[in-house]
Amino acid sequence: MSGKKHKQPSNDLHFIGLMSMASQRIPDELLRNEELIKDLEKIAKDSLLMHGVLMRTKESPNSSEVVSYAPFTLFPSPVPTILFSQALNVATHFNRLIDKVSQSPCFLEEALASTIKVDSFTAKLFNIYRQVQQEPQDMAIVLGLNRSDYMIDHADGKEALKQIEINTIAASFGGLSSQTPNVHRHILKVADLMEESKLILDNNPAAGLAKGLAMAWELYGSERAVVMFLVEEVQRNIYDHRFVENELWARNIRVIRRKFEDVSRSGYLDQNKRLFVDGQEIAVVYFRNGYMPQNYKSEQSWEARLMMERSCAVKCPDISTHLAGTKKVQQELARPGVLETFFPDEPETVIQIRATFAGLYTLDMGEEGDRNMAMALAKPDQYVLKPQREGGGNNIYGEEICRVLESLNSTERTSYILMDKIQPRSIYNYFCRNGEPVELKLCISELGVFGAYVRRGKEVLMNECVGHLLRTKSVEHADGGVAAGVALLDNPLLI
Ligand code: ADP
Ligand code: MG
Ligand code: MG
Repeated sequence: MSGKKHKQPSNDLHFIGLMSMASQRIPDELLRNEELIKDLEKIAKDSLLMHGVLMRTKESPNSSEVVSYAPFTLFPSPVPTILFSQALNVATHFNRLIDKVSQSPCFLEEALASTIKVDSFTAKLFNIYRQVQQEPQDMAIVLGLNRSDYMIDHADGKEALKQIEINTIAASFGGLSSQTPNVHRHILKVADLMEESKLILDNNPAAGLAKGLAMAWELYGSERAVVMFLVEEVQRNIYDHRFVENELWARNIRVIRRKFEDVSRSGYLDQNKRLFVDGQEIAVVYFRNGYMPQNYKSEQSWEARLMMERSCAVKCPDISTHLAGTKKVQQELARPGVLETFFPDEPETVIQIRATFAGLYTLDMGEEGDRNMAMALAKPDQYVLKPQREGGGNNIYGEEICRVLESLNSTERTSYILMDKIQPRSIYNYFCRNGEPVELKLCISELGVFGAYVRRGKEVLMNECVGHLLRTKSVEHADGGVAAGVALLDNPLLI
């Protein structure tokens, strides 16, 4: 395929002002070249399959007999270099912040006091936290694997990196995003964009996440003990896990995959609080499940979570780190003066973290909450209303905010927080989805940055930024991730 093809635009496609998009890095004439796009589509799909960028199908979510490629954008999306670097540079600060919050019982108690009165899921997690707090954890080994997500706001003309949230439990796509750079590089080369292909960065979160898991396993200190991935019933995203698993096996660390039911059925603690499941000693529990109410099918699942939390196995995350990732904590951290209490001698760290905060507002009972509610009702399009939930598709936008807020009493209101709506620049890209022809969409991107840290007692033994993830979705969808079928895997093309 030659570069000449770019110069034969098809008139069939209706393009609206594409050329005026300053940040569109992929040439307009290429995006219009239907014949080339069809070729690239085939090449992309094969390349995704060959690099293992896979997901199981909706039809057979627990079988590897028939699988498909994960949703993917045909082209990488532009991300300003300076903001990309900012996101990477702040990652180790966020690791430390989350770790400090997890060790601050008074802060967690206060921050979540109103939430746990109305949100039964957070209350159940908090109940486990309180029980575990009763027990000594002096030399506990802590492993944090998180993903801080950002959008680039350009509402007032200037571009600014703004944090959407930080995920401290089950942050996904570190595995598949370790493979996607190869695919975009290949597509760009075929499209005769050699120079652009060189701009696709290497990325290997799988190795970095596994490094943290391996260090925790080693600190636990028992050769025969295993790393247990605690997984969901439906495992469409298993290949994402497998990349991390395989890194551990390559280090001769055994990995098992178990569900809450398996832990309930066969798990126990010995007199030294060592955790055993199906007869195997567990060094590390890596939660890839347990972040949504529906993950806990019965009281037994909650009992299993408590048992794992009480054990001396390393939990990733432990219950306090899980709670440190709630949206209510995010909102409380954005209050004036709060970051300073965690970094009293580090004004520069505070500045760097705070620079990424969007406006976050409490809806707790009282004057401040009333004021914030009135502000949301007056201009609902400027805000996002967020409950204490994970996994995408839970937030409320626009007029719906008014309907929801007006239907709640002031107690119920406190299960939500309010956040400024980030307005990223939109660009055109083609979507590659299983079973659908490629489709040109106007879309926005969300950048995730993976952090990994290990601490034993007071000693921090690892604190790293271990990679990134770009997810892109159509502007039609306000919410929802890759797993929810809305967003697609992508790569940043630094500009
Ligand atoms: P979850 O834990 O369910 O992923 P998020 O806070 O990440 O919750 O919200 C889900 C999605 O909603 C995000 O991926 C993003 O697309 C959108 N979103 C969340 N907060 C904002 C915001 N402040 N401005 C614009 N979009 C947002
Ligand atoms: Mg989340
Ligand atoms: Mg999210």
